[in-house]
Amino acid sequence: MAEEPHVESLLAQGYHFVDPDTGAIVPPIHLSATFHHSVDAFGYRRESSPTTAMAERMLGELNAGPTLAFASGISAAVAILETVRSGEHIIAHHTVYQGIKRWMMRQAERRHVAVSFVDVRDGEAVRAAVRPGETVLVWTEVVVNPTCEVVDLRALSQLAHAAGARLAVDATFTPPLTIRPLDLGADLVMQSATKYLNGHSDVVAGVVTARAGDPILEDLQNVRKLTGSILHPLDAWLLMRGLRTLALRFERASANALIVARHFERHPALERVVYPGLESHPDHAVAAGELTGGYGGMMALHVRGGRDRAVRVAEAVRLIVQATSLGGVESLLEYRAAFEADVNPVPENLLRLSVGIENPQDLIADLEQALSES
Ligand SMILES: *Cc1c(COP(=O)(O)O)cnc(C)c1O
Repeated sequence: MAEEPHVESLLAQGYHFVDPDTGAIVPPIHLSATFHHSVDAFGYRRESSPTTAMAERMLGELNAGPTLAFASGISAAVAILETVRSGEHIIAHHTVYQGIKRWMMRQAERRHVAVSFVDVRDGEAVRAAVRPGETVLVWTEVVVNPTCEVVDLRALSQLAHAAGARLAVDATFTPPLTIRPLDLGADLVMQSATKYLNGHSDVVAGVVTARAGDPILEDLQNVRKLTGSILHPLDAWLLMRGLRTLALRFERASANALIVARHFERHPALERVVYPGLESHPDHAVAAGELTGGYGGMMALHVRGGRDRAVRVAEAVRLIVQATSLGGVESLLEYRAAFEADVNPVPENLLRLSVGIENPQDLIADLEQALSES
């Protein structure tokens, strides 16, 4: 074949894996915690091991850079934040995945690491927050959890680099089939692989990819080794299996979400539907410019009638599952302010909907009944 196959083809075939010893087309699971000194490849599993390393190679192909796999999205993010030294400064979007924001705030409180939370879509606000010589990291999501704001990575990477800082992007809502942040100027991309990358709500995992040759890689690897936060080989194996269907799942979730979003966009029981694929989304132009393979399955529903009504709607769904997490094959709905209103500016009537791969008419019917019964 003259041309390199498309990424969907590579994923479906597990990057054309064939075991050289057995001919197996599915990789083996190596659980060994230690490795004989006579073979040079691996030493101790807390540092690296074959099945996890194989998942890292697949994820590295997807994200287009050297990649480390972690025991959770949070531990991947914490490894990046651990590279920031005392006296240095981080600029982060005003809304950050709540667990990561809590870690940033903890670092600011207990260590000498300063954090400024600003609207990173506002170039002037970012420039004003820069502390020359101290700002080393700018942190954002692409589509922000749970508000679904969309950040222009090209513009933000220029601002970060002008300040002498790295741009780190949490791309959990937007897998590499629709955006590769390193191609748009980001220096680090982090994902919770618990979500779209695995896609079956049966693995907790995290990923960090850096630019080839960036010395931060060695530091990240060191943090992972010293904190013991490497991904377990069984989870790595499940993640590789999940990745084989990523293209299909993401395409279907994106198509379903657009149908659902359009249906409810002007619904009398809702104040707003915030979905990057809708022309009515304030950041739609940015989303259209950078999300080249679909807008994903995540949306925010602002329920008319405030907090109590929103909570009642979340409790009234029957097909859609009322549970936390996202990016799986099953649709999930959650009232978010209960979990993060103390750290993030989340509207008190916001429901976060993760659209799965079900028949979209069933999802619409379920939401209709939940809205009418509440
Ligand atoms: C879930 C999530 C995380 C945390 O990942 P875990 O795998 O749950 O540790 C980080 N960022 C975003 C945007 C998430 O949705």
